[in-house]
Amino acid sequence: MQGENCLFVVSGPSGAGKDTVVERLRAAHPEVQRTVSATTRAMRQGDVDGVTYHFISTDDFERRIEQNELVEYTNYCGNYYGTLRGEVEPRMAGGIPVILVIEVEGAANIKRLYPGATTVFVLPPSREELERRLRGRGTESEERIKTRLARAGQEMALACTYDEHIVNDDAGACAEALYAIIRRRLGGG
Ligand code: 5GP
Repeated sequence: MQGENCLFVVSGPSGAGKDTVVERLRAAHPEVQRTVSATTRAMRQGDVDGVTYHFISTDDFERRIEQNELVEYTNYCGNYYGTLRGEVEPRMAGGIPVILVIEVEGAANIKRLYPGATTVFVLPPSREELERRLRGRGTESEERIKTRLARAGQEMALACTYDEHIVNDDAGACAEALYAIIRRRLGGG
């Protein structure tokens, strides 16, 4: 499909800092946009409906699946997360670079649907640092932290299937590395 090269899928285990990296990139390069996913998970401190996610009910999510409004979706740690068609197709048509920050299953589905998309995996500097960041958030229960750590191990095992890899030991430097990938893939140097 036209404009597939405008799609940049960013994954990495919970705690790798991918959201911070993408926000740093967008602050410096606002021409790069980001999709807002739909989710059924509860809002956390700092979440803003319609900005961090579209927070919707399970019934609403399942209705949207049936109506083919999602280009991909998954169940992650007990909640639905998905990318709305309206978040990607107009940008592809308009040639606007857009980042999707999604987990590994969704990334693989996007790559199948849009083979011209670029997948980028954000690695934490170490496993210890990953756990430290995850606990440092203070927003998750011990049980949820354990689930997320287990899931992190599974996701890291899939890093080799991604087109590009960046290590987040410094968010600003990592954001510029991501921007360099975007420019290269768009043919801008
Ligand atoms: P969190 O609950 O920490 O905001 O997100 C949990 C995981 O779901 C993260 O890895 C995040 O990237 C992923 N995620 C967020 N939105 C989507 C989406 O639309 N589709 C998929 N497949 N994963 C998503």
